[in-house]
Amino acid sequence: MRVCKFGGAPLADGAAIRKMEQILKREPERRVLVPSAPGKRDGRDEKITDLLYACQAAAAAGRNFGHLFDRVAERYREIAHSLGLPPPDSNLRAVYAGLKDGRDAAWAASRGEWLCGRLLARYLDWPFVDAAEVIRFDTAGRLKFQETMELLRHRLRGGGVLPGFYGAEENGAIHTFARGGSDITGALAAAALNADVYENFKDVAGVFAADPAIVPGARCVADMTYRELRALSRLGAQVISEAAVAPVRAAGVPLNIRPADDPAHPGTWVHAAFGGDVPRVTGVTGRGGLTLWRLEGIEKGPEMARAALNSDLPLERLALDADALCLTLRGRAELPEALVAQADQARRQEGLAALSLVGEDLSRLDAAARFSAALTAAGIRPLSLHLPPDGQYLTAVIPEADYEKGGRAAYEAFNSCWGGSLSGAYRPAFR
Ligand code: ASP
Repeated sequence: MRVCKFGGAPLADGAAIRKMEQILKREPERRVLVPSAPGKRDGRDEKITDLLYACQAAAAAGRNFGHLFDRVAERYREIAHSLGLPPPDSNLRAVYAGLKDGRDAAWAASRGEWLCGRLLARYLDWPFVDAAEVIRFDTAGRLKFQETMELLRHRLRGGGVLPGFYGAEENGAIHTFARGGSDITGALAAAALNADVYENFKDVAGVFAADPAIVPGARCVADMTYRELRALSRLGAQVISEAAVAPVRAAGVPLNIRPADDPAHPGTWVHAAFGGDVPRVTGVTGRGGLTLWRLEGIEKGPEMARAALNSDLPLERLALDADALCLTLRGRAELPEALVAQADQARRQEGLAALSLVGEDLSRLDAAARFSAALTAAGIRPLSLHLPPDGQYLTAVIPEADYEKGGRAAYEAFNSCWGGSLSGAYRPAFR
């Protein structure tokens, strides 16, 4: 059995959905489909999920949302029309009524996947399994993992369409995962069913060794480990939800991230085996828009660190250095007054980026020396450099203005050590 998740772009219109159908038909083992809500058809288009959030916000503020909802309805009607299906008017009416009745944002956003799942189930003539009945959360919004696994196993045994992104509490209240969370739904289904492979179809070829917008011609990585993918996602790569890796990793289900518009392309295979004790570099990634806080007064360091960890600050990294607590935050976040007041001195620096190299056993590649030499040669002086003991990644904090230049320099410096293809033993017949 294969679990196939399709992202918003590969479901954006009827033509894309026909391609999806072709892909499903190529392989009889493709029996579970996890769709996102329709995404953008082009750069100026809108995502259905964004429109639904906007409808709910307008409704909650007592504003008219009819014109926004029309854009949602129009999109589904267009898709239905181009697939030769009747317009999904009764489902659309149910969503409109819910919005009018003041349903919350999670419910509103989840309707994008719900509507899409219903439509696709009808088109494929597959059973529809409502995620609200099988992806279960507790009242604090935490996934009830075991219960979810059992329900998924039971309800999807014979295959079906399971909409991504949401689930529900016992009492029916809808919860969504973070944005992009259909990846997690797919991973849960694949783990529960012990699938041969979790195929994640996207509008890109796979995972690239660097952002192709920054490094034109960056290679698409043929194979990587779960560990590497998780590190890449954690450190900035946007290819898949970070939380989607754990369920397939624990169940040992290989993940294949592949392009929906090119079924012959093998994409990127992600699995546990590394196929040899070879140190290698898998990718360059990172993120900008960081702010660094240095809180001096080391006797109070542990106490300040505890306070920072217990807060809901957007922490990228926390380091208790020799004489200060250093907090790297996403965005321009301010620190709580009480925390700043504890420090002898507080210094803030914004406009920073973290540039990271991810791989296996990086210390054996002298990666830190090569990485900083490459940055220096490009005229970039890192503010800090961090290589954890397991040698799995290396991060330099640099000025944000140098981020793209730094990414290119790092990619070039490791041109000879990009991980090659691993043994193909764990791949089910590729189609
Ligand atoms: N539709 C949701 C979003 O736009 C979830 C997903 O696409 O995975 O974030």
